[in-house]
Amino acid sequence: MIPTSLRGYLFDMDGVLYRGRRVLPGARALLAALDRMGIPFALVTNNSTRTPRQYARLLATMGMRVPAERIVTSSVGTAAYLRATLRPGSRVLVIGEPPFRRAIARAGFVPAWEDVATIVVGLDRRITYRKLALATAALAGGAEFVASNPDPLVPTETGAMPGAGALVSALQYASGRKPVVIGKPDPRLLHEAMARIGTRPEQTAMVGDQLGTDIAAGRAAGLFTILVLTGVTADRSPTDADPRPDLTVRNLNDLRRWMISAPSR
Ligand SMILES: [Mg+2]
Repeated sequence: MIPTSLRGYLFDMDGVLYRGRRVLPGARALLAALDRMGIPFALVTNNSTRTPRQYARLLATMGMRVPAERIVTSSVGTAAYLRATLRPGSRVLVIGEPPFRRAIARAGFVPAWEDVATIVVGLDRRITYRKLALATAALAGGAEFVASNPDPLVPTETGAMPGAGALVSALQYASGRKPVVIGKPDPRLLHEAMARIGTRPEQTAMVGDQLGTDIAAGRAAGLFTILVLTGVTADRSPTDADPRPDLTVRNLNDLRRWMISAPSR
């Protein structure tokens, strides 16, 4: 299926716009072309370790200007979920890094280690046994269990490290409880991003490097899905269990040419 008119684009970041600290081929030119054509775009990431502002600054150092309001992280999604489901001022146990904790506090909740209504889990590179023990106790006591994202790994320049999903799995295994998962492949971050650029699913493309998260979320939300082979999928062959993208491109230069070659798109 090729939509007759794509009026907006959502991009995953890591493995699509950059990898590590390296800007990927065509990223700057594609975002500039979208700006010139007046086609809005937003960025959607499962990563909870930076705020949208920090991402905007990081992208600026790479020559890409994207306002913070156009960057939807799993911290943003988790805070929105808590606002929708929890009384303001509720105590929340946060496993995660300072930007994640701040996002929860700014949403009107009180980070705490005991007597909590909910536990939320993001990537925490200072995880300890004590934090896991307190979270397990909270879950045993009936606290709600929310995962910012299910990513098993985080790509880094020196190789992959355990992601938020690995910590979620430890707690899931210890407690026998199943979390509500906020990040991709759940479509809720994509819905939030489309609300910000003002497009409907059938007018919007999701561009990502991972079949199981980006492409799966795009399909779940009813978007046109585009796989780019500059990230993790380049490292392995797809299996029958993987969702199929509507379009596959080598890199964002190829996507820009595809976009420009058919103005009706
Ligand atoms: Mg990615």
